[in-house]
Amino acid sequence: MAIKSREVRKGGQMYWDEKLETMPAAEIQKFQLRKLKETVAWAYERVPFYRRKLDEKGIKPNGIKSLEDIARLPLTVKNDLRDNYPFGLCAVPLTEVVRVHASSGTTGKPITGPYTAADLNDWTDCMARNLWAAGVRPDDIAQNAYGHGLFTGGLGFHQGLSRIGCMLVPTSSGLTERQITLMKDFGTTALFCTPSYALTIAERAEELKVDIRKLPLRVGVFGAEPWSSAMRLEIEERMGIKAQEAYGLTELCGPGVGFDCVAQDGIHINEDHFLAEIIDPQTHAPLPLGEKGELVFTSLQRRAMPMLRYRTKDITRLRRETCRCGRTFIKMDKIFGRSDDMLIISGVNVFPSQIESLLLEIPEVEPQYRLVVRKKGYLDQLIVQVEGRKEIYDAGPERRLQIAAKVTAHIKGMMGIGVDVDLVEPKFINRSEGKALRVVDERPKHLR
Ligand code: ADP
Ligand code: ZN
Repeated sequence: MAIKSREVRKGGQMYWDEKLETMPAAEIQKFQLRKLKETVAWAYERVPFYRRKLDEKGIKPNGIKSLEDIARLPLTVKNDLRDNYPFGLCAVPLTEVVRVHASSGTTGKPITGPYTAADLNDWTDCMARNLWAAGVRPDDIAQNAYGHGLFTGGLGFHQGLSRIGCMLVPTSSGLTERQITLMKDFGTTALFCTPSYALTIAERAEELKVDIRKLPLRVGVFGAEPWSSAMRLEIEERMGIKAQEAYGLTELCGPGVGFDCVAQDGIHINEDHFLAEIIDPQTHAPLPLGEKGELVFTSLQRRAMPMLRYRTKDITRLRRETCRCGRTFIKMDKIFGRSDDMLIISGVNVFPSQIESLLLEIPEVEPQYRLVVRKKGYLDQLIVQVEGRKEIYDAGPERRLQIAAKVTAHIKGMMGIGVDVDLVEPKFINRSEGKALRVVDERPKHLR
């Protein structure tokens, strides 16, 4: 194999940027306040949408005196971005924009994310920081199987990995057999993709009798969709790697908003760039540290598209503590789910990831599932379609019913809700190459 000179500048260090990542919280907050003031002024002066919303609330940029004042700022939602599609929220002349990404737009028009050269540089730095915390180093052979293109995942990881100086293999997503061949031939040590695609790769490798656990692969950084801790363990076991996490959204930059370190105990938020809050999704009131609610972000250094109090719809809680890794950046728990994926079954709030964890506890089924929601009279009915393991499915209808009943009882026992379980044949559920489709909502639109 060709010898390449890699950047070894920081190979032995713990942190990408030690001073920043271990800064006392009070100092970070001082920095955040300064940047918050600048951001509000930047948005007010340059984006008519924000000026109007701030004027409506009678807020002037110089009225921001403390971090708590953020609660007075108006909230921003996805529809605001759609209404201003494509560049209505852009705060710089388009001649200063050097890149535009867009979200997958699975629900309606896509939303755009423009970047200035400085934004792109900051994003790249956040990514490098995150990858470093996950244990990625310059001597890694990095296979980047996030979709490359408008989606922020592919290029975001590409930039971060390039900055670290890895040997980068930009496979993009899909062509799973080729992913496995390259992984073997190149001796890939680090993999980057959605967790559901990681599972697809693991499964295909098993079918091809390639034991990934015996390959040099040692770490993966997975994100862009919710996945349970049980799914993380499943991937770690099937691939023989550490499965690290990345969190982000197009509205803020893409991946690089948050990341977990090797302690795997919560997701650190890049606090010098993103100010996180938790609000009550119904009343919009700010919730104290430690309480579960909707995550809201304000960007602190973005120039092309500043974001004031963006409602992510992601449900989690925040923790301020010094991590075992020594980092002081605030942490959030693993995302519980999106509020728009939350189902109310028999009066109980249900997130797909809770069901996922329970399914993974049952050895007779594959970790491949889909939740179908229908109306049964006035009530929501949840059908859990999950694949039986081949030998279970092949054993005939009686065995299938028995396992379906076992799954139903497990979910009832743990969550107190009644679900119908449909034990489907192996390969029934479409394999994901990007973000998995977990919920199929068959309820009439007006009844959701
Ligand atoms: P889209 O909204 O079209 O899916 P994005 O790529 O911007 O496009 O998706 C961002 C969303 O993806 C986040 O708000 C969150 O719901 C989800 N997401 C990203 N990373 C994670 C993660 N590590 N865990 C859970 N959800 C995640
Ligand atoms: Zn940590």
